[in-house]
Amino acid sequence: MQTLKDLSEQFYLYAICEDCQRIEQLDLVALIEELGADFKVGELRSRLLCRSCRKRGQSIRIVYVGPPERRAVFQYRR
Ligand SMILES: [Zn+2]
Repeated sequence: MQTLKDLSEQFYLYAICEDCQRIEQLDLVALIEELGADFKVGELRSRLLCRSCRKRGQSIRIVYVGPPERRAVFQYRR
């Protein structure tokens, strides 16, 4: 299973609330500081709390953005 460290270089992580459709990009650097680099991405879901409707259990979307030196401009589209 992927860890936060695996994702931090080349991926963005988004949390999507299934109830109100709110999309939030997660700050991987802050998550690693809080949870540790070896924290499993699959365990994030139950920890996430929607800031809009206060529900837990948001979906996680992992989006490849490439290495930092040739990162494409990325826009999340619903
Ligand atoms: Zn919500």
